[in-house]
Amino acid sequence: MTETQYDLNKIYDYKELPDKVSGRCDNCGNAHFKSRVGQGKFIRECRECGMKKSI
Ligand SMILES: [Zn+2]
Repeated sequence: MTETQYDLNKIYDYKELPDKVSGRCDNCGNAHFKSRVGQGKFIRECRECGMKKSI
């Protein structure tokens, strides 16, 4: 067991999985995101690895 593996096809819920470091991607540490609205929620997607969270 080393690093957590994140499923990049899944949209994580920010309430269940808050940022380890605020404003940075848990998966790759990148701080640049693109945002969109989907399914009535605000989706934040990492520009580097594509990890998504609804916030
Ligand atoms: Zn990332």
